[in-house]
Amino acid sequence: MPGFEVFGEEERQQVLEVLDSGVLFRYEFAAQRQGVYKVLEFEKAFAAYTGAGYAQAVSSGTAALKVALMALGVGAGDEVITQGFTFVATWEAILDCGAVPVFTEIDLTLNMDPTDLEKKITPKTRAIIPVHMLGAQARIEEIKAIADRHGIPVIEDTAQAAGGRLKGRHLGTFGACGTFSFDAVKTMTTGEGGMCITSDEVLWRCMSEYQDHGHDHVANPGGRGGEGRSFIGFNYRMMEVQGAIGLAQLAKLDSMVVAQKNNKNFLKDAAGVLPGVSFREILDPEGDSATFLTFMLPDREQAIAVAQVLRDSGAGAVHWCENTWHYYPNWEHLLAGKTLCHSGWPLAVHGKRRVVYDAAALPASAAIMDRTLTYQVPVVMTEEMKTRTSKALQAAARV
Ligand SMILES: *Cc1c(COP(=O)(O)O)cnc(C)c1O
Repeated sequence: MPGFEVFGEEERQQVLEVLDSGVLFRYEFAAQRQGVYKVLEFEKAFAAYTGAGYAQAVSSGTAALKVALMALGVGAGDEVITQGFTFVATWEAILDCGAVPVFTEIDLTLNMDPTDLEKKITPKTRAIIPVHMLGAQARIEEIKAIADRHGIPVIEDTAQAAGGRLKGRHLGTFGACGTFSFDAVKTMTTGEGGMCITSDEVLWRCMSEYQDHGHDHVANPGGRGGEGRSFIGFNYRMMEVQGAIGLAQLAKLDSMVVAQKNNKNFLKDAAGVLPGVSFREILDPEGDSATFLTFMLPDREQAIAVAQVLRDSGAGAVHWCENTWHYYPNWEHLLAGKTLCHSGWPLAVHGKRRVVYDAAALPASAAIMDRTLTYQVPVVMTEEMKTRTSKALQAAARV
């Protein structure tokens, strides 16, 4: 998954252009910047790469979700549906808008179960956020069809699936908006950073203005100070240095995905020795960004035993039922409603809980996660890693 594996001269050259211009800020300084507009260039390149009409760079993937939700008008009193297997950022962004997250089951795609989604839609549902977890497609066409029937916008959390596609179409371009993360461990990275893509110009304008304190970015003789504003915004801007690194990393994205696919195939063959093993359902293997290999053992006990041998053999895999950052029953701070706000907002109003999460609320997801293990697929996999992992899997096959 990590783009930091392929840092090189391209990233260095891009960053030097910014430093040489002396301007670190994406807006203004037209006279000083010698035509260097890295964030703007990165947005154009990302929009062209994904085939989205518009792209808005922001400071992180979490910010991208927040900006998308705000631009869609989500706020207090609203519910936003996402899945119980995602990074905490997805629902943090929902809460940060004052809305309440509602969690669906996942199915064997490890992404949102459309049947459960349908059951969880209420008159308060104002957005749906399927997540393309672990580099591969959610059932986005089915989810979009359900959302359309109810007139609810879809935001695709594509943080883990840059470079991923479904039937040739880029993930993130199916819903009203797609959001991406370029944090330190994502396939392409800018250290910290994020992007929102959309084909809707009005939505893009709202996102563009919201992430920059409401500045309308209409050129005027007064410069930035003289710009107008039509609503209250916030600051989620991306820096020029990040835009520069993003340009270099985007140019490497497709080749990283190709390398990951090769390494994933190797790992999949190696994992095939495990008795009773099955693999995550991938809707379109051609469009898989191949950042992870996910496999299932027949039950929880066998998964625990296999995970133990792999760990002891120096080739540990993630056993999802133990993971504390991506899986609903282990989000103890959410379940307990712990926020910094003295009144408990947004999970409580004046100390009174308005939503209570039950750790046992997603039994179908638990039945999958209990027996699911995952390897992160590196871009560069040494012979030593290949041998170690194969041997570990062979040892695990004997337990
Ligand atoms: C990484 C990630 C995010 C948040 O991205 P940051 O850039 O770290 O803020 C959001 N959603 C998912 C699914 C992620 O994996």
